[in-house]
Amino acid sequence: MSQIYERVALIGLGLIASSMFWAMRRSGAAGHVTGYARSSETRDTARRIGLCDTVCGSATDAVKGADLVVLAVPVGVMGAVAAEIGPHLKPGATLTDVGSVKTRVIEDVSPHVPDNVHFVPAHPIAGTEHSGPESGFATLFDNRWCLIVPPNDTDSDAVQRLERFWRSLGSHVDVMDPEHHDLVLSVTSHCPHLIAYTMVGVADDLRRVTDSEVIKYSAAGFRDFTRIAASDPTMWRDVFLSNKDATLEILGRFTEELFALQRAIRRGDGDFLYDYFTHTRAIRRGIIEAGQDTDAPNFGRSR
Ligand code: NAP
Repeated sequence: MSQIYERVALIGLGLIASSMFWAMRRSGAAGHVTGYARSSETRDTARRIGLCDTVCGSATDAVKGADLVVLAVPVGVMGAVAAEIGPHLKPGATLTDVGSVKTRVIEDVSPHVPDNVHFVPAHPIAGTEHSGPESGFATLFDNRWCLIVPPNDTDSDAVQRLERFWRSLGSHVDVMDPEHHDLVLSVTSHCPHLIAYTMVGVADDLRRVTDSEVIKYSAAGFRDFTRIAASDPTMWRDVFLSNKDATLEILGRFTEELFALQRAIRRGDGDFLYDYFTHTRAIRRGIIEAGQDTDAPNFGRSR
């Protein structure tokens, strides 16, 4: 595959940025990649494992001369990082981000983008519960979706180039408006994470169940909650604080559904429960047919 951007700068060197780097290496989409992370520890790790061609000592150094700058930091600090690098961006460059929330990031970042720079927000719908510079891998985005969320007046060449870039990393690409993005992701990602955090918190709180029993018998569904609930606390704190309206809207609906199920159980309404679970099973089949998960038993785990 041919080069899409000559110089790319990754700001933040965690799961998403490191996966992007290895995927760029695989595809040849970038000529030279610079990187920067807040702590010297992360920067040293990046140098040790060969993450980025050059690891810089400051964000402003990293973005100098870059044709594509990627903000891959928690959504709560996107605005501050944009303010720091804004004056140093190359005229004609594209600034993008990978944040899990879009409306708030666009509000926070846009004021710091110079007129001669194209801001094209994006969100790769791919991840794991791991974080940090050593957690990335080249295939993370393969066959996953990346949503591009360009403000109305965005240069269409810059949007198309970023679309080509994400395709070269293995993704399918769709374009969406920011409010819709935040509502959809609240249903598919943000609220499920909150529910997992809650369920693990409930189990921890149940004094009747000892920790060892929770761990010993965790294969029965609970361990899938614990995997999600092991996700990075900073990232997820910022997601909920930044996507407040959509989260509260979906949690309201979730609570209504939960009450309906609770009532059906209390009344012994087996038909209601059976119909409900038949419907949800069909949704799972749809996800498998769309190639977004494996139909192997137990998610393909050997045990
Ligand atoms: P991560 O593994 O926790 O890495 C975050 C990186 O940001 C670290 O390198 C951290 O540096 C750096 N950072 C934090 N504050 C900074 C600052 N003020 N200036 C410069 N660097 C800073 O996070 P991630 O999972 O890659 O997530 C990054 C972004 O992708 C988030 O916005 C998240 O919403 C989004 N996203 C995540 C997933 C997922 O499943 N994880 C999926 C899609 C999108 P230090 O190591 O030095 O602290």
